[in-house]
Amino acid sequence: MIWKLCYNSFAMDIKRLVKQNIRSLSAYETREIPCRVKLDANESPYGFSMASKAISKIETNRYPDPEAKELKKVIAKDLAINKKNVLHGNGSDELIYYLIAVFGGPVLYPTPTFSMYGIISQALGERKMSIPLDKEFDLDIDKMLTAIRKDKPGLIFLSSPNNPTGNCFSSEKILKIIDATRGIVVVDEAYQPFASEKGFIPMLKDYKNLVIMRTLSKIGLAGLRVGFLIGDEKIICEVNKVRLPFNINSLSQKIALEVLKNRKERNLYIKSIVSERNRLFNELSKFESISPYPSEANFILFSANEPDGIYERLLKKGVLVRNMKGVVNGCLRVTVGTPGENTIFLNVLKKVV
Ligand code: PMP
Repeated sequence: MIWKLCYNSFAMDIKRLVKQNIRSLSAYETREIPCRVKLDANESPYGFSMASKAISKIETNRYPDPEAKELKKVIAKDLAINKKNVLHGNGSDELIYYLIAVFGGPVLYPTPTFSMYGIISQALGERKMSIPLDKEFDLDIDKMLTAIRKDKPGLIFLSSPNNPTGNCFSSEKILKIIDATRGIVVVDEAYQPFASEKGFIPMLKDYKNLVIMRTLSKIGLAGLRVGFLIGDEKIICEVNKVRLPFNINSLSQKIALEVLKNRKERNLYIKSIVSERNRLFNELSKFESISPYPSEANFILFSANEPDGIYERLLKKGVLVRNMKGVVNGCLRVTVGTPGENTIFLNVLKKVV
C-alpha cells in the first residue's frame, strides 16, 4: 500500500521532472490520414525499384559503416565537392539537431518556414527568433540584419526554396546575411533539385560560415532517412563530434548508394515533377477563387476562399493535401504527384470549390 502511494505520487510528478523547455513542447504531429491520392508531405511520387539487389548484400549481424564512406564518396562526386566537406545525417532533421547542439542559439529564421528549426531549438533549450517574410515571401533583410546586430544569433536557418512558400530567397539578401553574422548560416536546400537556380554550393569557397543542407527525401527516398551537411572541413569536424556513431543504418546506406548511381532515372523523375508542377500552377491559376504562389519546389502553396471546406471536401473524395491553417492562414499546400494523381486532384478540386 505504501509502495502504491509512493508510486502514484511519483507518477503524478513526472511533468515536474521534465525540463521547462520540454514541458511546453508538443510532440511532432504525424497523423496518418487514409486517402487515395497522398499529396500532403512533399514526398516524391516515384520510388525506386532496385532495392532488392541491395538488400541481398546486407550483413544484418554487423553494425553499419559509421562513416558512411561509400555514400559520402558518391554524394561528393555528384555535387563536385570533396568528401571531407560532407557529413551524413539520418535525414536532415537529425543534422538540424546536431547543428543546434554544436553552435547553440539564439537560432534565427524567417517565418513561415520549416517547423523543425523552431521545434529542435526549443527541445535543446535554445532561444529561437523568427522574423516574418515580406509580402513576396522574400527575406525582410532590414529586420534580419537588425536581429543579427542586436541578438547575435549562433545559427541562422534559411530554407531556399522555402517550405511552405515554395520560392527561393533572393541570393543577394542571403549573401548579405552571411556577411553580417558571426554565427553559422545554414542554407537548407532540401528542394534544390526542383529549382531553376543553382543553389549555394559554389559559394562555400568564399564563405566559411556557410553550410548547406541537402536530403534524399524529396527525390524518392524519404523512407530511408538520408541527409547531408556540406561545408568547411572545420565545421564538419565539430558537428561530427555529436553525431551518433551508426546514424544511418546499413539498409539505407546500401539502397541510397544504388539509387544515387542511377542518375538517369533520378533526373527523369525530377524533370517530370518540375513539368507537372508547371502544369498544376497553370491549372490552379484558372480557378477564380484560387491563387497559387510560384514555386521552385515539388509543391505549390495556394490561397483559397474557403480553405477548410476545400480541404475537407478533397479528403472526402480521397485527395489529401496540407491545410496550412495557423502557418499561412487561408492557404493549402499540394505536393506534385504523378501526372495521373495531379489530374485526379484537379478534377476533384473543380468539383469541390
Ligand atoms: N528541410 C526542409 C525545408 C523540409 O521541408 C524538410 C522535410 N519536410 C526537411 C528539411 C527534412 O528532410 P529530411 O527528410 O531529410 O529529414
